[in-house]
Amino acid sequence: MKTHAAVLFGRGQDWQIEEIELDPPRDQEVLVKWEAAGLCHSDEHLRGSDVGSQETQEVPQQAVGSLFPILGGHEGGGVVLEVGPGVRSLEVGDHVAASFFPICGHCKMCITGHSNLCDMGASTFLPGQISDGTMRYHLKGEDLNVMAKVGTFAEHGVVHEASLVKVDKDLPLSVVALVSCGVTTGWGSAVYRAEVKPGDTVVVVGIGGVGINAVQGARMAGAKNIIAVDPVEFKQKAALDFGATHTASSIDEAIPLVRDLTRGEMANAVILMPSIMHGYLMEGALTLTGKDGTCVVTGMAPQSQTECSINLFELAMWQKQVRGVVFGAANPRFDIPNLLGLYKAGQLKLDELITRSYPLDQINQGYQDMLDGVNIRGVLALG
Ligand SMILES: [Zn+2]
Ligand SMILES: [Zn+2]
Repeated sequence: MKTHAAVLFGRGQDWQIEEIELDPPRDQEVLVKWEAAGLCHSDEHLRGSDVGSQETQEVPQQAVGSLFPILGGHEGGGVVLEVGPGVRSLEVGDHVAASFFPICGHCKMCITGHSNLCDMGASTFLPGQISDGTMRYHLKGEDLNVMAKVGTFAEHGVVHEASLVKVDKDLPLSVVALVSCGVTTGWGSAVYRAEVKPGDTVVVVGIGGVGINAVQGARMAGAKNIIAVDPVEFKQKAALDFGATHTASSIDEAIPLVRDLTRGEMANAVILMPSIMHGYLMEGALTLTGKDGTCVVTGMAPQSQTECSINLFELAMWQKQVRGVVFGAANPRFDIPNLLGLYKAGQLKLDELITRSYPLDQINQGYQDMLDGVNIRGVLALG
């Protein structure tokens, strides 16, 4: 079938709306009508050169030379229109969230409760379908790569059931799209990886579509002080609406504030989720981290970033921890429905995250608004 999609032809270029050709679903694949897609920074990293380098196109490294053209989008909510042979977990009419990490359900990571690290995820940025490695998406007769095997910047997609999570039908699909990545990544960074406890002091650095949900997670875990750090005033104000108790425009500005709030004990948890992570941020972040405290690194760094400045004496003597995290250490098949349940119960704010919706052909405007700092989160309305 033919459908419309936002395709990127190379670094630094705008997204182009193209008519693409989709093959029918094969083994364990379904045809999805995407209704909403989140404009996440990770897709912008494909376009920009801030994570990989311009010369080698090394985002993601495994796909060098085969990345472009690529259909973007890894946050999505949609409806199953057709199921291929061997599909067990879904039927026609089901509502689904995209999972940019596929979940096999039986590898070591999956069965030990870390399905965000499923072995299948290792190939999520390689071209080809999960089922047999062949291509289902084509543009003008040529094969088309697909972001994270879901490619949600399209009206339709052919997706393996391992990359989809069934959700309740009464949920807005725009909200489902956000929980499929940014919400869960932020919330889980606070709740699961920083292990925030009642009474804690928590610093969240970078209040975008991910950071604002770390603020929500810290609030729900019972933090006493939640300091939201972002240079953009609009985002500082938004953080207060989502549960932050204090704001600062930089790590340097947060240090004396946290010192005052904690009588010098500093924070139990510092969560780093700037739009791009750099090694120089670690020194200040660990100054903010108190005894037995945890510094969680959620933000994506350039692949070549190998150096950072850490006071190793204090790391040991104050017994601090530095922890990396992906997808908030959450399990997509449990946590996506669970967070949507908290939303339905009125405990998690999701509608308020969506600053603006855009039709597919305004995707470049949506990303410009994100870069200009006027959106908490933009959403593509694909219905
Ligand atoms: Zn995302
Ligand atoms: Zn697995």
